[in-house]
Amino acid sequence: MLESPLPEPTLPDRPGEACGVFGVWAPGADTARLTYFGLYALQHRGQESAGIAVSDGERMTVVKELGLVAQVFDETMLTALTGDIAIGHNRYSTTGSSVWQNSQPVYRPIGANGIALSHNGNLTNTQQLSVEIGKLFATTDSELMTEAIYQAMAVREIGLVDALLTTLPHFEGAFSLAVMDRSTLVGVRDPHGFRPLCLGRLDEGWVIASETAALDIIGATFVREVEPGEMVVINEEGIASHHPFEQSEARLCLFEFVYFARPDSLLYGQNIHAARRHMGQQLAEQAPAEADVIVPVPESGIPAAQGYAKATGIPYVDGLMKNRYVGRTFISPAQTMRDRGIRMKLNPMPGELKGRRVVLVDDSIVRGSTTRQLVTMVREAGATEVHLRISSPPYRWPCFYGMDTGDRSTLLAADRSIDEIAGFLGVDSLAYLELDRLLEATGAPGGGFCTACLSGSYPTDLPITTDKYQLEHPVGETLP
Ligand code: SF4
Repeated sequence: MLESPLPEPTLPDRPGEACGVFGVWAPGADTARLTYFGLYALQHRGQESAGIAVSDGERMTVVKELGLVAQVFDETMLTALTGDIAIGHNRYSTTGSSVWQNSQPVYRPIGANGIALSHNGNLTNTQQLSVEIGKLFATTDSELMTEAIYQAMAVREIGLVDALLTTLPHFEGAFSLAVMDRSTLVGVRDPHGFRPLCLGRLDEGWVIASETAALDIIGATFVREVEPGEMVVINEEGIASHHPFEQSEARLCLFEFVYFARPDSLLYGQNIHAARRHMGQQLAEQAPAEADVIVPVPESGIPAAQGYAKATGIPYVDGLMKNRYVGRTFISPAQTMRDRGIRMKLNPMPGELKGRRVVLVDDSIVRGSTTRQLVTMVREAGATEVHLRISSPPYRWPCFYGMDTGDRSTLLAADRSIDEIAGFLGVDSLAYLELDRLLEATGAPGGGFCTACLSGSYPTDLPITTDKYQLEHPVGETLP
């Protein structure tokens, strides 16, 4: 048992989702509405703000606001947003505060029109870039990127594509981008391809999106993934592919498979739901348990629990019910309600748990405080034993590529043994899926993955500061 519990986290107990980006070039189509539905399908990637930029060739209009896609846009607004090109963004803040000023698409006017940019990921050279670009009032890495592109266009009097070819090699870290000006849509993926980006086809044009599920919702056909290090340019001349970066090894975030991506999306040609079921099967082979029922932690643990149950033959039951919409309200719960902690989100089903030996399955543990409450709740509902199975390895290292995990001191597994973690969580047994088995379960073990938060092996140089608010400190203030 750990001598002292971890401090109450200020961050959520799971990795924060990455952002969602979307773009469409489709003359004659209702591009803002297509973008709205694309963002709707990508809502799981970020819930802090939503925005759409649309250009009719003469004028670019940007609408963005804090809140969910359905809260930000209504019919009247979408009807007013007309044009042949649009990009959109759902934000989960990994650099800068969750305020309107930091919402996206970032817009920079140039004459009567301008450029707009949507970004998923995190740069690792933000500080250096802010010095090079000299934009002291930028508060996010996405804003710095937009400023760099703008400066190249303004100073050298070149177009968007040439400006991107010039500036992109200066960006380091994780960035999947949708960028547009009045006539051109551009999709960019960093050389390691940390974050996903795919290309789709509509009758009238082309679509780029963080995940294939956003293509499905608007009836676009999946064409292919944008390759790591590729820049795809779409305009009335057609579609062209550029490679402005030095070639690097592909390092798609492994947590896209474990947790972030939608179950109905495809990555590396693999269905995410099927991959998560395979993770559960692998976990059952690696760490079986003598138990009466398999219970998923909804919704993240469901496919792995299904796989675990299938491999063991132990019945799968819904022992926990999710209060689906509680995280989607802007009404702040009263303190007494907050004290209910996990019970605001999950409710136990005593009829499925009482007198039973339970295998509880989830996909990851980051800080552990929620999991500990959950285990207590399952025991109070009558479970006689709780065996916890996690369908990924211990999360030991912070992420610098677009996941908001906080620093290492907040990570439950950072310096603790499995026995210590089990003691802290109050479980009868605990097992994490081994990394090799996890890679195997993706169905694309040779695809090229980032595993840094699990292995400590980072594919890039690390940023000189881990401060999420590094650009918001007053000028001259010393960074931690
Ligand atoms: S460090 Fe972890 S969460 Fe971050 S990109 Fe790599 S695998 Fe994904």
